Amino acid sequence: MAERGTDVLVLGGGPAGSTAGILLAEAGIATTIVEAVPFPRFHVGGSLVPATLPLLDRLGVHDGVASLPHTVRKEGVSFLTDDGVRHVDYWFDEALPPAIPHAYQVRRDEFDAVLLDRAREVGVTVVEGWRGIKPLWDGDRVAGLTIRDRSGEERELRARAFLDASGQAAFMANRMGWRFPYPRHRKVAAVTHVRGAWRAEGRGKGNTTIVSARDGWSWFIPFAGETTSIGTVVDTQLWRRGGSEPDALLAHVIATIPEVRRRLEGAEHLFPALTLQDFSYRVLHRSGDGYCLVGDAAGFLDPIFSTGVFLATETAASAARDISEALARHGRVDGNDFAPTVALTRSLHRIFFAFIRSFYDPNFLAFFYTSPKALHMGAAIASLLAGDVLHPARWRRTGRLQLLVVLSWLQAMLSGWGVPLVEPLAAGPSRGAR
Ligand SMILES: Cc1cc2nc3c(=O)[nH]c(=O)nc-3n(C[C@H](O)[C@H](O)[C@H](O)COP(=O)(O)OP(=O)(O)OC[C@H]3O[C@@H](n4cnc5c(N)ncnc54)[C@H](O)[C@@H]3O)c2cc1C
Repeated sequence: MAERGTDVLVLGGGPAGSTAGILLAEAGIATTIVEAVPFPRFHVGGSLVPATLPLLDRLGVHDGVASLPHTVRKEGVSFLTDDGVRHVDYWFDEALPPAIPHAYQVRRDEFDAVLLDRAREVGVTVVEGWRGIKPLWDGDRVAGLTIRDRSGEERELRARAFLDASGQAAFMANRMGWRFPYPRHRKVAAVTHVRGAWRAEGRGKGNTTIVSARDGWSWFIPFAGETTSIGTVVDTQLWRRGGSEPDALLAHVIATIPEVRRRLEGAEHLFPALTLQDFSYRVLHRSGDGYCLVGDAAGFLDPIFSTGVFLATETAASAARDISEALARHGRVDGNDFAPTVALTRSLHRIFFAFIRSFYDPNFLAFFYTSPKALHMGAAIASLLAGDVLHPARWRRTGRLQLLVVLSWLQAMLSGWGVPLVEPLAAGPSRGAR
C-alpha cells in the first residue's frame, strides 16, 4: 500500500469539491480531489439559482458556464397546478433588492466538468476513477483516506485536512452512522431527458416549470436546443405501490397529470428513466478534528427549489476559508475551526427546509399561487427562489415566509368553516415534511 501526502484532500469532484479545491489552491494550499467517476458524467440537478452567480464569478467560471453548449438563461420560475388552471411566475428581478435578475439552466455533465477543469487549471491535483474507501483515523483526527485507484490497488493518502464532498454517497455520515432519513419526507424521483417537449415563448422560455399535483410535483428544465430535463418527485410509498419501476412512475405521472401530458405530447425520451431514492436525510455530525462535510454529504431535503448546487458551493467555499485561516493561525485544522461552516450549513438548511416544507402544505400553496403583493410577500418568495439569503437582512425574506406560514394556518382553519382567506387549491402536494 503506497502512501502519499497533500495539505487538503477533497473527496468528490462535484460542485462542492471543485469549489473548495479552486479556492484552496488559489490560497496556495496543496489540494487533491479524488473523484470516483471519470468526467464528464451524468448528474441530476441542472437548474441554478441567481445567488450562485457571485461565487461562479469568484471561481473564474461564470463566462465558461454561460457559454456552454446547453446553457440557457432563466429569469424566473413558473408554477402550475396539475390541471394547468392555476399559474404563477416568480421573476428574479421582482425580488427584494438587491436582486440578481437571472440564473442559468445547465447540463450538469458540462457544468461539473467546467468546475473540475478550473480546479486543475489553478493547480489542484485531480485524480478521476479513484474511490475513497475509508477514513484514516489518527485518534479522533481524520488524517487522510484509504482509496482504491484505477488499477484496483489500495493506497493511503494522508492530508492535514479532509473535506467530504461525496454528495448523496455521504461517505463519512454513512460510515459513521450520522445519516438519518426524514421519517415524514420519504420521496423518490424519476428523471429523464426528452426531445420535443412543449416550450414556453417569450420571457419565461428559460424558466424552470414546476407542476404541482396531489401526490407530488414534476419539473421541466429547458436546455439549449430541443432537450428538456423532466422528472417527478412522489412519496416512496406511492412508488412502491406502483411496482417500483422508474419508467412506470413517469408513465403514470404523464397519464394522470393533464399539464404534464400536454407538455410531453409527441416528445421523444432520450434514455430510460432513472430513479433516485432516499435523497432526503439529515446528518447529525458535520465536522471534527481534521475534517468537515460539505454539500449534499452534509444533508439534503428536496430539490423543489433548485437550491442544491447553491448550498453545495457556498458550504464548500466556507470550509475552504476555514481551512486557510486555521492553517495560517496554528498550522493544523481542528473541529472548532469549522464552526463557521457548520453554522452556515445549519442556517441554510433551516431557511430552505422551512420553505420546502411549506410547499407541501396546500394551504400555503393557496397563497403561493396568488403571489401576494401585500407587505411584499411575493417579492420575498422571489428572493428565496433566487437563493438570496446570505446577507444580514435575510430576515426580511424569512420573516415574510413565516408570516405566510401563519396565514396558511389561518387559511386551514377558516377553510374548515367555509370562509377561506384565499381561493383554496383543487390540487397540490398533500403530505408535510418534518
Ligand atoms: C431529483 C433531484 C433533482 C435535483 N435538481 C436540482 C436542481 O435543479 N438544481 C440544483 O441546484 N440542485 C438540484 N439537486 C441537488 C443537486 O444535485 C445536489 O445538491 C448537488 O449536486 C450537490 O453537489 P455536491 O458537490 O455536494 O455533490 P455531487 O454533485 O453529487 O458530487 C459528489 C461527487 O462525489 C463523487 N463521489 C461519491 N462518493 C465517492 C467516493 N467514495 N470516492 C470518490 N468520489 C466519490 C461522486 O462521483 C460525485 O461526482 C437535485 C437533486 C435531486 C435528488
